[in-house]
Amino acid sequence: MTCSEFLKELTDYLDDTMDAATRAELEDHLNWCHNCYVICNTTKKTVEIYRGSELYELPEDLRNRLRAAIMSKCQQKKAGGPTGA
Ligand SMILES: [Zn+2]
Repeated sequence: MTCSEFLKELTDYLDDTMDAATRAELEDHLNWCHNCYVICNTTKKTVEIYRGSELYELPEDLRNRLRAAIMSKCQQKKAGGPTGA
């Protein structure tokens, strides 16, 4: 699984709406990808804040902004040097 695949599934992972196999793949990615691990924790906290208030679903706008911020971070990281993958 690549970082962009991970990020595509991240909100479903946090919503716990995916099957066990996909979930296991995401957790495997978290084991070796510190970048996504940090993103996952940050997003999780954001989601918990939203759930603590009256909203359950993340607004589409916020999802898009989170994703854009994450993707640019990933790309910056890639541009910094070869990842070997
Ligand atoms: Zn990753």
